[in-house]
Amino acid sequence: MSVKYVPEPFRIKMVETIKMLSREEREQKIAEAKYNLFNLKGEDVYIDLLTDSGTNAMSQEQWAGVMRGDEAYAGASSYFKLVESAQDIFGYKYIQPVHQGRAAEKVLFGLLMGKGQYSISNMHFDTTRAHVELSGARAIDCVVPEAANPSLRVPFKGNMDVKRLEQLIKEHGADKVALVIMTITNNSAGGQPVSVQNIRETSEICKKYNIKLCIDAARYAENAYFIKQREPGYENKSIKEIVKEVFSYADMFTMSAKKDTIVNMGGLIGIKEDEKLYQLCKGRTISFEGFITYGGLAGRDLEALSIGLYEGIDENYLKYRIGQMEYLAGRLDDAGIAYQSPVGGHGVFVDAKAMFPQIPYYEFPAQALAVELYKEAGIRTTDIGSYMLGNDPDTGKQLKAEFEFTRLAIPRRVYTQAHIDIMADALIAIKERASAVKGYKITWEPPILRHFQASLEPLK
Ligand SMILES: *Cc1c(COP(=O)(O)O)cnc(C)c1O
Repeated sequence: MSVKYVPEPFRIKMVETIKMLSREEREQKIAEAKYNLFNLKGEDVYIDLLTDSGTNAMSQEQWAGVMRGDEAYAGASSYFKLVESAQDIFGYKYIQPVHQGRAAEKVLFGLLMGKGQYSISNMHFDTTRAHVELSGARAIDCVVPEAANPSLRVPFKGNMDVKRLEQLIKEHGADKVALVIMTITNNSAGGQPVSVQNIRETSEICKKYNIKLCIDAARYAENAYFIKQREPGYENKSIKEIVKEVFSYADMFTMSAKKDTIVNMGGLIGIKEDEKLYQLCKGRTISFEGFITYGGLAGRDLEALSIGLYEGIDENYLKYRIGQMEYLAGRLDDAGIAYQSPVGGHGVFVDAKAMFPQIPYYEFPAQALAVELYKEAGIRTTDIGSYMLGNDPDTGKQLKAEFEFTRLAIPRRVYTQAHIDIMADALIAIKERASAVKGYKITWEPPILRHFQASLEPLK
């Protein structure tokens, strides 16, 4: 039952040469990298699926915008253009550019939370969790239980478990819950979408207990496309209308613009109407990022971002984008390879627990599959499992992740159908020799966000 590939709604004007090393060279490179794929050189990778973040191909319009970028330190026209575009799409009064998503978290979370408080999210992304913890607060994930079952096909697996959210608020006390964060799409659950209904219900609970709601908006456009496809009542609405409704339920957003706005660097903070909060944000932006009208970005970046905001919500583009995921997922279905299904918006999250039942969570099955994919075809992916989750900040004990996913994150407008076939073929080849694959142990790790830097060693 094969899925048809949705042809690219663009043609190629500029190319970048890539090459595949021999298997012997790849085995040597990954050993030298201490089995951490972040330590590999980009040039030693054939197909780079480490992340869809900042790895997108910009359009001719965006490159033309790069040339038009206004590099004035203060009051650049590119800044005003960006603010106007973002206000138009999200309907928020205040827009602050920053250099990437985690900068938005750093600027905003330090103002909103601290020791003894909690942040509750459908799932915190790793840097989001890190900034909650750096503020002194604690992060609690509250995704619907369906998300933990990779083979269960339900339309909105990224949703907040709203019943549990209310229980958690009562348990900890509403005054201790500093923020509720809705991550759309739910990256850590597999790029799974969140429904409008769920966002509305979450918003109602927040209002009831007087807690602010923040959208972690990295993939708001892919989320809106899924809503249009799957949520009754939204099939005839435009992506822009859906985006506006979704954001109307929250008080603020943080955004990594390196995802759905199809640029290589950038981020945004949006504040619906709280002028006091915006004033405080401006102060911290100046300290951490730079003057408010550039926020750690060059004028040319602001310009490309303001164009990307519109390209990212183009429905023909989104149809091709999600279609690429569905094509790869279809090939895995045919081969009986388990992944977080239905497939999410920005990649395929392969269920490494199902592929390697012999490897326990503390020996990092999803990292093992990531290493195998590099050895097999020069494909670079990442662990979204216990290896990424790390240790409990209070006890130092290895945490057990809900999932052990190896994420094949697909950059936007970069790879073709033939590349996607190579990904599927590599996974099929690994599945055939899966029982012989062993786990890993960590030989060195830093205290926070360890997966970026840790050293590993294969177990005998
Ligand atoms: C990427 C991402 C971030 C962090 O953004 P950066 O631009 O990488 O700093 C935060 N939340 C989510 C959901 C993300 O996907």
